[in-house]
Amino acid sequence: MSIKKQIVELEPSGRIHNEAFVSAPMTCRYCNGRGGFPIDTVEGPSMEECPDCKGTGEVIAVVTVEWKPNKR
Ligand SMILES: [Zn+2]
Repeated sequence: MSIKKQIVELEPSGRIHNEAFVSAPMTCRYCNGRGGFPIDTVEGPSMEECPDCKGTGEVIAVVTVEWKPNKR
């Protein structure tokens, strides 16, 4: 299986400020993109929502960068 890698290059530009990057959507590995898990209930078979992707089948990564002075 191929893995698409995303790279964040760190370089201050002008005044430093905190930044956040959001990745492209990726398939949820916990439910393998199904969005949930089959369960048996008294009413019959049902689906339990995946707690990681909340039923969407996909997740995104939010990467936050905090710039700070280099205090020695
Ligand atoms: Zn999931």
